[in-house]
Amino acid sequence: MKNVRKSIIDVPGFPKKGIIFKDITPLLLNPKALAHVIDLWVKELKKLKINKVVAMESRGFLFGVPVALRLKAGFVPVRKPGKLPRKTISQSFSLEYGKDKLEMHQDAIKKGDRVLILDDVLATGGTAEAVTKLVEKLGGKVKALAFLIELSFLNGRGKLKGYEIKSHIKY
Ligand code: AMP
Repeated sequence: MKNVRKSIIDVPGFPKKGIIFKDITPLLLNPKALAHVIDLWVKELKKLKINKVVAMESRGFLFGVPVALRLKAGFVPVRKPGKLPRKTISQSFSLEYGKDKLEMHQDAIKKGDRVLILDDVLATGGTAEAVTKLVEKLGGKVKALAFLIELSFLNGRGKLKGYEIKSHIKY
């Protein structure tokens, strides 16, 4: 895990003043550390018998697909409006300034699916909360949410009460 921590670089002031951006691209360049992260997720999530992994654009995709393959689950992309080509459902959510919206294909989740939601960073939890709503609108059961990084001081867990939450690295 020490190698994983070293492969995440803090970028102060990106994309705007006051934010310390956690850049995970060095981790993608380090196959040993990346494999370790994926292995850990698979080990701790296997028992939940997940059949769909849902991840949000775009960094969530980088981890979501390998985890889905290893869990022998399907992968579902959640995207910004207008990107998915077929019939979608959507969910709005609040950002620090203004609003945003996420979409998922309507046929991606079936009633009773056992779902894992996965992303690189849990910050305020607004994005992850919106994704839980998308999954539940379609009758899926959110069995866990997993993040590489949790920014504990932003209390994302406060928005995700009642859900099982896993994170590898806490700041
Ligand atoms: P939030 O909805 O506030 O929990 O923000 C989560 C989303 O924003 C995730 O998809 C992250 O990829 C991204 N994000 C938020 N804060 C950071 C950060 N400090 N560094 C990198 N990505 C972040």
